[in-house]
Amino acid sequence: MSIQIVNSLNRKKEELIPVKKGSINMYACGVTVYDKCHIGHARSLYVFDVICRHLKNRKYQVRFIRNITDVDDKIIAKANELNKPFAQVVSDNIGLYKKDVTNLKVNFADVEPRATENIPEMIAHIESLIAKGKAYESDGDVYFKVKGFAAYGKLSGQSTEKMLEGVRIGPDEKKKDPLDFCLWKKAKAGEPFWESPWGQGRPGWHIECSAMSMKYLNCETLDIHAGGRDLIFPHHENEIAQSEALTGKPFARYWIHHGLLKINGQKMAKSLGNFITLDEVLKRYSHNVLKLFYLQSHYSSEIDFSWEKMEEMKIAFGRIEMVVRKLEENFGPRALDPDQDEGMARITGYWEDFLVQMDDDFNTPKALSVLFDLIKTCNQLLESQDPLKGAKLSYALEVLLRISNALGFDFTTEEQVLSDELKALLEERAQARKARDFQRSDAIRDALKAQGIIVQDGKDGQTWIRA
Ligand SMILES: [Zn+2]
Repeated sequence: MSIQIVNSLNRKKEELIPVKKGSINMYACGVTVYDKCHIGHARSLYVFDVICRHLKNRKYQVRFIRNITDVDDKIIAKANELNKPFAQVVSDNIGLYKKDVTNLKVNFADVEPRATENIPEMIAHIESLIAKGKAYESDGDVYFKVKGFAAYGKLSGQSTEKMLEGVRIGPDEKKKDPLDFCLWKKAKAGEPFWESPWGQGRPGWHIECSAMSMKYLNCETLDIHAGGRDLIFPHHENEIAQSEALTGKPFARYWIHHGLLKINGQKMAKSLGNFITLDEVLKRYSHNVLKLFYLQSHYSSEIDFSWEKMEEMKIAFGRIEMVVRKLEENFGPRALDPDQDEGMARITGYWEDFLVQMDDDFNTPKALSVLFDLIKTCNQLLESQDPLKGAKLSYALEVLLRISNALGFDFTTEEQVLSDELKALLEERAQARKARDFQRSDAIRDALKAQGIIVQDGKDGQTWIRA
């Protein structure tokens, strides 16, 4: 058993071997807080949550850090647009971000540091780079000397000549070389600023991640650095350059990048009017349904969102939910040893199969097929006369819940919001069926349906899901 990861650094599938045996230090680039999370951000939050869950299921001690970029041109522009103080825009959007993470039901990282709370570490990093001759000051700005770092381009696989083609040089350019990137930016009038050895200014975006990852993971070589594919160049390329120029050590052993999200085949952009926020989706579908949509594609692939697909996912998730509910309501804690019965071993084997699929570069489409296979087995058992049916289904429930937890599903939400009135109707219907009053039970079924509750009858009683 070992976890294999396709490492963006060399585009090869490699065995995960952490710096320290048994523990993983992982960092992901987080949100820039100038707006609500859209469903591309949500994919990032969820993908790395699932990866962390799997690492923990494989008994790694995981320390996970995800930053919050709370100073940036986009936030300054937003504050100007809204005519609000900068700090207000930041705190409003951090509030929205936290709400989004909570509603998506993914775990927060162990620490979610804010850039502006770590300025001294960034200044120290920049000062060391200047002292080593790897960076220089120019009229209040500080730049990293790209040509002084021979390995520049190793992540994105580009030559510096190629990069130069895409670089524009402005008339007020303070750089010595067009490829050099900004580590510290001099403040313009009216912009937020911090004091530094180079005057009032603010850190560049790239330096934030280098300084905060090394600080909060307390190491110079991270095990895993994660982010969206759109961050490979220049952001991650620059993180590598400024980190390795400082420490002389590899910055991260494995780079994991998730693919981007499109809407009906188009890039998501405010200007195209197809910008979909997470809260908009969660108003219409549960977090489980959205997660099932993300899981259908491998994390590294591009994914295409549509409302039609969400409808399909809702039906598919309903199949999982229905089985879980039936088992929870009708089959108690397990009573038999799985080793004593072949059929039982087959059921517990689903968990191992699931883990094996996840070991293979977190292959969620294949892991999902294990889950749906188990659902099928459960449905067959439910209809069978197997004398060990009860015991087998108790095991199956345990495995189902374990897999669901590994994928961040939960089944509590819907139940909690079921009103007392609906609960009473369900109970009344169960009684009517017991008394063989089918006219009454059918009438209640229709009444429930009108309120969005679909009731199904099985050998072991009725179950319900939301329409
Ligand atoms: Zn970053």
